[in-house]
Amino acid sequence: MRTVKVYPELWPLHTPFVIARGTRTSAGVVVVELEEEGIKGVGECTPYPRYGESEASVLAQIAAILPELEQGLTREQLQQLLPAGAARNAVDCALWDLAARRSGRSLWQLTDTPMPPRIRMAQTVSIDTPEAMASSALALWQHGAQLLKIKLDDHLITERLMAIRAAAPQAQLIVDANESWKSEGLAARCQLLADLGVAMLEQPLPAGDDAALDNFIHPLPVCADESCHTRDSLAALGKRYEMVNIKLDKTGGLTEALALAQAAEAAGLAVMLGCMLCTSRAISAALPLAPRARFVDLDGPTWLAVDVEPGLAFSSGEITLAEVR
Ligand SMILES: [Mg+2]
Repeated sequence: MRTVKVYPELWPLHTPFVIARGTRTSAGVVVVELEEEGIKGVGECTPYPRYGESEASVLAQIAAILPELEQGLTREQLQQLLPAGAARNAVDCALWDLAARRSGRSLWQLTDTPMPPRIRMAQTVSIDTPEAMASSALALWQHGAQLLKIKLDDHLITERLMAIRAAAPQAQLIVDANESWKSEGLAARCQLLADLGVAMLEQPLPAGDDAALDNFIHPLPVCADESCHTRDSLAALGKRYEMVNIKLDKTGGLTEALALAQAAEAAGLAVMLGCMLCTSRAISAALPLAPRARFVDLDGPTWLAVDVEPGLAFSSGEITLAEVR
């Protein structure tokens, strides 16, 4: 028999996190704990309002499969029971963690992925005045971050980017517009980004309105985030994007995320690995995808006032793994 515990947690941020869709001051997560014969596996997800999710809806989805979960539901069966999304993610990752701990092997070993000693990752500069974004970029660069992810909305594009570029001339920059741009003027903005040496633009147009990218010639790679959830998303993306941002909260867990990465690569799309605001628990579950990602964007826990214990070893722009089990 398997014991199941499901509960929400609220993790305050040390600094407000501002993106085109709004401001967050805390990370609300849902945790799933599975216990078998004294061994515990844990999974975490972040319900995301953009995708119609709330803490209540995720708790209800998991409650609906509680009997199956208690009776030994497998990862394979789970994929059929819940749709892709946060609820399935927490359960899927708890099942992976339980399998790892029961077998005495790491998630790296279970997924046949050699563990690198460290992972270079992006640090996020959230939306603010051009001056504040520039000083945030400079501080991150001075602390060692070499890859900066710049959040933008539909305003002050030139001012913000030029201030950041001047403050951190050697940093590698990627830009995330979170669906806030329109097709009119997109070509000029892409050219501006290319001129400033920006390495990639993430989700400029709304997911439901990105057909304008069909055969749109752009001078830098464009990455699908809100437009890419699972393998089912891929068919529409090939003509519009060069890259997909894989997040376990969208795929509904590591199981589909691994399959999506493989299918995306087979379709000629590069892989980026992202996260929601979350604790180290959620990042640990995604790490086996990091070595195959061109950009790793897993700085969610660095926004928390306090991370879960034991947390991953984050330093500016890097996760050190040598000490992790
Ligand atoms: Mg994004």
